[in-house]
Amino acid sequence: MLKNYMEDMVNNALPKILDQHEDMCRCAQCMADVKAMALNNLKPLYFASNKGGVYNKLKELEIQFSADIAREITKAIEIVSNNPYHD
Ligand SMILES: [Zn+2]
Repeated sequence: MLKNYMEDMVNNALPKILDQHEDMCRCAQCMADVKAMALNNLKPLYFASNKGGVYNKLKELEIQFSADIAREITKAIEIVSNNPYHD
C-alpha cells in the first residue's frame, strides 16, 4: 500500500499551528484548502509499507521536516484566511 506520510505530518502539526491563528476559519473547506496548499509546497513522502523500521524512520523525518511543515502551514493559513472561498 502506497501512502504519503507528509499528509499525516501536516495533519499532526495543523492543530498546534491553528492555536496561534485564533481568527482562522475552521470549516472543512478552509481546512482542506490549508492542507492542500501546504502539501503542494512540501515534498511528498511516500512509503510502500508501514512495517518494520518505517515508524522510527518517520519519527526522525517528522523532526527533520517539522520547521518546513510549520512554515508551509503558516503560509497557507495566511493565504486562505485572506482569500477564503466563502463569505
Ligand atoms: Zn471556512
